[in-house]
Amino acid sequence: MIPFAPPRIDQEMIDEVIDTLRSGWITTGPKTRIFEEQLALYCEVESALAVNSATAGLELMLRWFGIGPGDEVIVPAYTYCATANVVIHCGAKPVMVDVKQDFNIDIEGIKRAISARTKVILPVDLGGWPCDYQEIFEIARNSPFTQSNEIQEQLGRILVLTDAAHSLGALYDNRLSGSLADATVFSFHAVKNLTTAEGGAIALNLPAPFDNSAIYNSLRTTSLHGQSNDALAKFRKSSWEYDVCEAGYKMNFTDIQAALGIAGLKVYESETLPRRRAIFERYNKALSEFPWVIKPPFQSSLKKSACHLYLLKIRDIDIETRNQVIQKILDKRVAVNVHYKPLPMLTFYKKMGYKLLDFPVANNHWCTEITLPVFYNLSDDNIDEVVRVLASAIQSV
Ligand SMILES: *Cc1c(COP(=O)(O)O)cnc(C)c1O
Repeated sequence: MIPFAPPRIDQEMIDEVIDTLRSGWITTGPKTRIFEEQLALYCEVESALAVNSATAGLELMLRWFGIGPGDEVIVPAYTYCATANVVIHCGAKPVMVDVKQDFNIDIEGIKRAISARTKVILPVDLGGWPCDYQEIFEIARNSPFTQSNEIQEQLGRILVLTDAAHSLGALYDNRLSGSLADATVFSFHAVKNLTTAEGGAIALNLPAPFDNSAIYNSLRTTSLHGQSNDALAKFRKSSWEYDVCEAGYKMNFTDIQAALGIAGLKVYESETLPRRRAIFERYNKALSEFPWVIKPPFQSSLKKSACHLYLLKIRDIDIETRNQVIQKILDKRVAVNVHYKPLPMLTFYKKMGYKLLDFPVANNHWCTEITLPVFYNLSDDNIDEVVRVLASAIQSV
């Protein structure tokens, strides 16, 4: 059996978790701070706030920007539901835009979707491939913008908030994911490149005169009930008293999660990313001989993928045949997936009136895509077997 994306749990991670369990501090504490600092250092931003999921991080940022009823947030139609669900949670409207051949949001589509109500562009670095940030920022800077609170006045333009659930370590113009948008949200869910079982983080990169470390402090308070003096601070200051100035959320990260994150981040650039890139390269090479293959984006003069998902497309296949191919691969005990079912196809969004036919590229991806296994311990022999099984499945339909 070749699984799809089991997490890499090495001895260092286990030791770090045990150390945390023995330390007496298992919720948000010293290791969470260390992880945040190391993450901020890694992706070259001033501050990063760890939270209990990417979903929570996205919602926290939307609420920080004052997003609510009457506001519009531009999202791609081809992503995981979390990207749009958080907009719904805030009472705002997700405005969906079709994607391009590289699976990322279409720039011309964003231009058409902009309205006087647009407050945020929320692109997704799908599969680990960075979006077109220069073009996205040009739109954000040059579009009309209605300011409805102090933070929006200070920014004076549309906010660029990236869903970087897939793109930790990706490069755009020699800059790392995290430093490419105003705020960038990572996911450390079990299947992601870096995992803390569940978890996420917000990399803060707002332009002057914003003070990112002050924003960090205020978001940190909001992420834990709005409590002024958290448990660790109370413990350190030997003071029991605290105040609550807002009805905050319960989104905090724990030191057990931080233990996994610290150990995982230590080997991320030296082991995790190089292995994922090598897996992509081996798939690319092995699949090159087949005329029916359309390979996922990997690297260009401007961009380098974080190699999260190997989004293979089969040329000129229809959805029924693609489904047969997948079944034949699964029957050979190789796990594959489809990323993603376009948002307009999901019952909730369909009922809201979104129509798949308005997103022809997303629909084509959905019908022709097969995601191949990529994980740290996937061996070269495993890769060759996946390609063999895939090729024979294609041949037999
Ligand atoms: C995994 C994922 C999320 C959600 O991450 P959580 O940490 O599980 O909340 C959001 N967007 C995309 C594109 C994802 O793949």
